[in-house]
Amino acid sequence: MNRQDGEQSNPAHSLFETFLRANQCEGVLGSFQALCKQLALEHKGQLQFYQKLKSCLNYWNAKALWLKLDKKAGHRDYDRGTACASSKCLIIGAGPCGLRTAIELAFLGAHVVLVEKRDSFSRNNVLHLWPFTIQDLKALGAKKFYGRFCTGTLDHISIRQLQLILLKVALLLGVEIHFNVQFNGLLPPEAKRSSGWRALLQPSSSPVGQYEFDILISAGGGKFVPEGFKRKEMRGKLAIGITTNFINRHSRAEVEVAEISGVARIYNQHFFRNLYNKTGIDLENIVYYKDDTHYFVMTAKKQSLLEKGVILQDKGDVESLLSAQNVNHEALLSYAKEAANFSTNYQLPDLEFALNHRNRPDVDMFDFTCMNRSENAALVRECHGARLLIGLVGDCLVEPFWPLGTGVARGFLAAFDTAWMVKRWAAGTSPLDVLAERESIYQQLSQTSPDNTNKNISQYSIDPTTRYPNINLKAIKPNQVTSPGHVEIPP
Ligand code: FAD
Repeated sequence: MNRQDGEQSNPAHSLFETFLRANQCEGVLGSFQALCKQLALEHKGQLQFYQKLKSCLNYWNAKALWLKLDKKAGHRDYDRGTACASSKCLIIGAGPCGLRTAIELAFLGAHVVLVEKRDSFSRNNVLHLWPFTIQDLKALGAKKFYGRFCTGTLDHISIRQLQLILLKVALLLGVEIHFNVQFNGLLPPEAKRSSGWRALLQPSSSPVGQYEFDILISAGGGKFVPEGFKRKEMRGKLAIGITTNFINRHSRAEVEVAEISGVARIYNQHFFRNLYNKTGIDLENIVYYKDDTHYFVMTAKKQSLLEKGVILQDKGDVESLLSAQNVNHEALLSYAKEAANFSTNYQLPDLEFALNHRNRPDVDMFDFTCMNRSENAALVRECHGARLLIGLVGDCLVEPFWPLGTGVARGFLAAFDTAWMVKRWAAGTSPLDVLAERESIYQQLSQTSPDNTNKNISQYSIDPTTRYPNINLKAIKPNQVTSPGHVEIPP
């Protein structure tokens, strides 16, 4: 019997193979539930679930994945999955950063529940990955879930594929994930009975509404920040971003076209002058990556958008300037397609727009003029003796500038820093010490680049000293985090 026959004759093996290869959120969840049913395993119980699943699936392909995950789980930071065994965490958002945080907390042994308001992963846009994120994802078995992951010199992946990989790892590690559930706020503990913090959810019938937790992690993206956190606006000069995706048929001609990993005007004035002279399109920069789609992101100059009829009227404020009423959508499609054709030297045959989740051509125009970051990375609340640690990760903590591709890299760094904070919290460190250390680490985040983080990426762990050179974990003192933005503990 060859390996393939073996997989097919054992229903659990074949369900596991379907799970590994599933390419849509629905397929991942469906095959996973079927697998658990087939093996009579309840998907509960933190890391113990992973141990039970492992003992049920011990054929070659599953074993190759367990080898990787076991190596990760064996890291000293996790204390054999006991470091946070009594912590109960709720995570908001199944974006890349919420899922990556969930995985770290699961390795630490915590009970992790994640809520996601949507029911699918639909973002074709492609993210740039720093070398440490590629190494990190490979160590989590990314190639087992997505064979094309960063082959050769590729250093990028579509957002949806990244979410699929992380969703699969999180499920295997026992993270409970509830789609179609929106977090709408916190329910403090009641005075009369000894209870913990709970969440106000939509739909209110969700069983997660009964879950009591002592740690809340918000990874709800740039638009969602929980109550209590102050945001700082960083305003730059007007920057209008356009993203677009075309169908990738993986033909020979398409394979041969070179990617553009970021051409900025200052480095290639000739290219941009030619583009303007021949097409009237005026850009600051352009990036082209291939994954499931042909993906382009560019920063366009306002004047050329007006001249090409994409923006109908010049307006003082960016919101009105880019409002749906002031944009000619057809002209925007032509602008994006022309820029894509010119920058790939007209070598991509028959460019056809990929569709977005609304079944419309996947083209979008965004304002990057102002980006937000949270003033604090964490805060502590206390009510009737029950303490709650709240942390932010990903775009919800610091919004990235897409053409630089900092979103996932800084998002993963913040996910590791947050897991470290949870570990210190679970070890009984005082709230003020936990917060002071977290803010000391957060000070580093916005300056990080592949050049100024530690070079030894194989040693990266949740311990910040493995990633940030010469970090001072006591840069912020406990008495600097006593303001209402940090702690809401009754005297
Ligand atoms: P996100 O990926 O935004 O995930 C947040 C998740 O939280 C979402 O799934 C959302 O549905 C969920 N959520 C929000 N509120 C709630 C709630 N109340 N309850 C439950 N769930 C909730 N970056 C690039 O570098 N290049 C790009 O081209 C690019 N394109 C993007 C296109 C779009 C439409 C968006 C939104 C982001 C894009 N980004 C891009 C940013 C990039 O996706 C993020 O930097 C990266 O995904 C890390 O984000 P995250 O996990 O913090 O948040």
